[in-house]
Amino acid sequence: APYREVDVHELLDSTLLMLSGKIGPGIEVVKEYDRSLPPVPAYPAELNQVWTNLVDNAVSAMNGAGGQGTLTVRTGLDHERLLVEFRDTGPGVPPEIKDRIFDPFFTTKPVGEGTGLGLDISWRIVVNKHHGSLRVASEPGDTRFQVLLPLTAETP
Ligand code: ADP
Ligand code: MG
Repeated sequence: APYREVDVHELLDSTLLMLSGKIGPGIEVVKEYDRSLPPVPAYPAELNQVWTNLVDNAVSAMNGAGGQGTLTVRTGLDHERLLVEFRDTGPGVPPEIKDRIFDPFFTTKPVGEGTGLGLDISWRIVVNKHHGSLRVASEPGDTRFQVLLPLTAETP
């Protein structure tokens, strides 16, 4: 997929629409978009994969907690970078595994349900391919995965 100026909100909306069938009726999706943000240079198909992985993880965390909760997708600016945050009200990432969740094949899901590759792939797309960052802050009931992307193309 080509590297081009991407409207992140358009991309988020299309990803959420694509995933809407997988998001149960007990889960509310809230969009907190800052529409004044500029487009960013990015690989849209790859970013779509990142959003998909993060939404999938958020939804499965809340499904494990009765299928109830809220997924909030927020955009904003953070230190001259574009922030896309996926926040869920699920049980959270236990502190003892927090350092391992980005490792390839690390999963807490039953065999057949999780490959343990979602966060590894997302990390490589965000950090290696877009020179951005991917970070997590989590406590029970409030888990935030944050993607930070440069606003302008980085010259090598
Ligand atoms: P998979 O989804 O196949 O397990 P991932 O790399 O996407 O693999 O995620 C790795 C692990 O990180 C998950 O198995 C889960 O334990 C943890 N995790 C990821 N996202 C969340 C979340 N939103 N809430 C709680 N735990 C999470
Ligand atoms: Mg996953």
